[in-house]
Amino acid sequence: TRTVPGELKWAASPSEGGWEEVSIMDEKNIPIRTYQVCNVLEPNQNNWLRTDWIPRSGAQRVYVEVKFTLRDCNSLPGVTGTCKETFNLYYHESNEDRESYIKESSFIKVDTVAADESFTQVDVGDRIMKLNTEVRDVKVTTRKGFYLAFQDVGACIALVSVRVFYKTCPLTIRNLATFPDTITGADTSSLVEVRGSCVNQSEEREEPKMYCGADGEWLVPIGGCFCSPGYEEKGGACKACSAGFYKAKSSDAGCFKCPPHSHSVRDGATVCDCHSGFFRADSDPPSMACTQPPSAPQQLISVVNETSVVLEWAPPRRLGGRSDTSYSLDMVARRCSQTKLCLPCGSDVLFSPGQTGLKTSRVVVSELRAHTHYTFIVHARNGVSQASGAGAAQSVSVSVTTNQAGEKCFYTIVILLSLIVCLSLSAPSPVSSILAIDVTRHSLSLSWQQPDRPNGVILEYEVKFYEKDQKERSYRIMRTFSRSVDVTGLNPLTVYVFHVRARTAAGYGEFSAPFEFSTNSGIHAVKFSSCRACIKVYVQKRSKYSKTKQDSEEEKHLNPGVKIYVDPFTYEDPDQAIHEFAKEIDVSSIHIEKVIGMGEFGEVCSGRLRVQGKREIYVAIKSLKAGYSDKQRRDFLSEASIMGQFDHPNIIRLEGVVTRCKPLMIITEYMENGSLDAFLRKHDGQFTVIQLVGMLRGIASGMKYLSDMSYVHRDLAARNILVNSNLVCKVSDFGLSRVLEDDPEAAYTTRVRRKIPIRWTAPEAITYRKFTTASDVWSYGIVMWEVVSYGERPYWDMNNQDVIKAIEEGYRLPAPMDCPVVLHQLMLDCWERERAERPTFSQILNMLDKLIRNPGTLHPQGPCWSRGWVCVPEWSVCEWLQSIGLERYRDTLAAAGYTSLDSLLALTHQEMDRLGIITPSHQNILIASVQQEVLSQMQHMQHSMVPV
Ligand code: AMP
Repeated sequence: TRTVPGELKWAASPSEGGWEEVSIMDEKNIPIRTYQVCNVLEPNQNNWLRTDWIPRSGAQRVYVEVKFTLRDCNSLPGVTGTCKETFNLYYHESNEDRESYIKESSFIKVDTVAADESFTQVDVGDRIMKLNTEVRDVKVTTRKGFYLAFQDVGACIALVSVRVFYKTCPLTIRNLATFPDTITGADTSSLVEVRGSCVNQSEEREEPKMYCGADGEWLVPIGGCFCSPGYEEKGGACKACSAGFYKAKSSDAGCFKCPPHSHSVRDGATVCDCHSGFFRADSDPPSMACTQPPSAPQQLISVVNETSVVLEWAPPRRLGGRSDTSYSLDMVARRCSQTKLCLPCGSDVLFSPGQTGLKTSRVVVSELRAHTHYTFIVHARNGVSQASGAGAAQSVSVSVTTNQAGEKCFYTIVILLSLIVCLSLSAPSPVSSILAIDVTRHSLSLSWQQPDRPNGVILEYEVKFYEKDQKERSYRIMRTFSRSVDVTGLNPLTVYVFHVRARTAAGYGEFSAPFEFSTNSGIHAVKFSSCRACIKVYVQKRSKYSKTKQDSEEEKHLNPGVKIYVDPFTYEDPDQAIHEFAKEIDVSSIHIEKVIGMGEFGEVCSGRLRVQGKREIYVAIKSLKAGYSDKQRRDFLSEASIMGQFDHPNIIRLEGVVTRCKPLMIITEYMENGSLDAFLRKHDGQFTVIQLVGMLRGIASGMKYLSDMSYVHRDLAARNILVNSNLVCKVSDFGLSRVLEDDPEAAYTTRVRRKIPIRWTAPEAITYRKFTTASDVWSYGIVMWEVVSYGERPYWDMNNQDVIKAIEEGYRLPAPMDCPVVLHQLMLDCWERERAERPTFSQILNMLDKLIRNPGTLHPQGPCWSRGWVCVPEWSVCEWLQSIGLERYRDTLAAAGYTSLDSLLALTHQEMDRLGIITPSHQNILIASVQQEVLSQMQHMQHSMVPV
């Protein structure tokens, strides 16, 4: 009211003799309006004074500050009990700004107000007014505004001023977000949630929010904003990065100095430009220095052997500041004839390990034409070769002329010349000492010094080693570019002999003298000999299949680098085995979805696994139910310890284990179609013979791998084969005790104490527990029968004793309906009484490959009913790759054993990552088109069916 010019003219009731408007001068001599009443001598006073309408203006709680003076009744001469020392404050909410009359009863009482100070002197002329200030608050939420009223009941008062206000939390900036001036809430405890908006040049990090308290104070801010790329925070605002600095992402970081070989000239740079001659690859982060393409590869040498050429080179002198140098080869062929006819490039030529994207500096080019002049150009590239605009990489070239295939001693002038040059160089001197820097049970880490006289740039070292007892009869070779090597897969407590030699452009130097090192015993030395015993493979002469030696033990020792399976039960501490062979998975990266089966130890679930840095994959999760014994735990984990040693597309892959928290879990790849026996029963008669043989091929391939590792499965049966969505079959069920205890098919025999799955087991294994790869081959024959008969039970409802007797008498399962005679013959071979007469898995695999390549041989004949198979033209992997424009992967796939279209059905993204086929679009094309191709072959067959 102090600021209102002129009179207030509030409504007073009664209009005469009650409240009166009196203008006085305040302490600064400014005229102010007051209302006064002082009817202390008359009883029953009821004087009302009502303000004008006060708009609420969005406020929900208003504060009324009243300044007034009040006379002390005692100081008034002659007053009686009628004198009061309080007045009442009321309010009335209304949308009407000019209400002429409001009933007293419509007002709601706020409070009775008393004075803190009263004064005894009426004299205001001396300016010694004792002023009271009282504040009351009231919630006003229902109408646009309100009226206030003062009721006097017989006091002597002067209202000096009335101030009405509301509270706000004032505009502010917190965490780079602006929060507007905000009216507080209706209740004294209410908080108003306010959303902030990011300041200029900033971006939301997390929704900025803050609460405005009833007292007009902001509470703790939540979320906020980050300065945009090119800007950094300074004093609550975002300022542009100055020249020479950059900021690539919106973050709370400051601007960074430009990385080496780059600059920024203008303020606000989000990335620094490379100096001229320097580049950045698309995938390089802005924080990385600008780099250059590599210089040319060096010292390219070639050695011709008939129609193959070995090319080797040294890395470029300048790598341009990067570590992603790769090499590619171009080849120009010119026939060594007078016509000088240029041949089309590369259609039949094989590059191993490949022609492009090479990380190594050695390539073997084979299948060249005889007597042909070739020029090979080796290009070095890195991540910025493309960006550098030069396009063409730095390269070196060499020309050679091939010899006659099979002709040993013919060298062209070019090669003679290069040999002369080579011979004129001298080879490096021998490595003089080798040190063992780390020794474990199964590995040795060795290091050595460069030879005293390298006589050139050392291109690589070759490490030859063998078990001391074996002498040099069987040795392994490893090659390395560095002066150290980790030799793994060794036998414990065994002395090994090592020799190292260096190679330069002039060839290999002499091997070093022998250096002997022994592997550790660990704490399992005693058990070790039993482990050795269990890997023996039984070989018998004079078998129809035993002419090839490839599965014999002798062969295995001569074959360098063959990995041998280690029985986890030779470890005294099962946890040591599990941690050696299986990866521990953090349980938080597993997402279990549903139960898919029941295993011996508990439920089997499917779910998803996301390991950091890898794509999410579907997995099967086996858990060990609570209340298990030590033995159960050991048996449960033994399956993972065994599975973890295998790495093959037809063996179920172990992703890892959870042993650090309960329940214990084994995580494997997920096989969408479950176990093979149930799958076949469900799809009775729905597959082509090629598809069935494709499944059998996969199983044989997995079994060959297991037998190469000297692992005997003992429970090979269709129920223990899993099938994925691409119909790829994988061998599973590796628990040791489980083989004998868990399988419902396993039964006690009269002769042995343990349970055996009679119908699947070879007679010698039933009779005297002679479990070998050859007994697995017998089981494989039964699996073949199960597959071709779509999951029929072997020997139908005969009981186990009758089966044993029938087998002893020479009885064998007949060909299932529609069974091609060649397949039944193969089954019969697997069921030879003499185990040495049975084929090896490698022979079975070769046989099946042959059948797949020549589907015409798969005619069912003899007593079988016919579904009528016809030949389809053979479509080789190579031709197919050509047809989809991905011929470049021919060598990679061939080297990994993908030699038929059916085998390519096993290709997964992970497998391709492993093989170095990393371009996502290529992976997708390969997977989609192999399925398409096999499908169309099947359709072709089905449409061509003719009854015979
Ligand atoms: P097991 O204890 O290995 O015999 O597993 C019991 C059942 O769970 C099997 O018969 C399958 O039906 C199912 N199962 C086990 N492992 C997998 C897997 N990797 N993918 C899909 N199903 C599986």
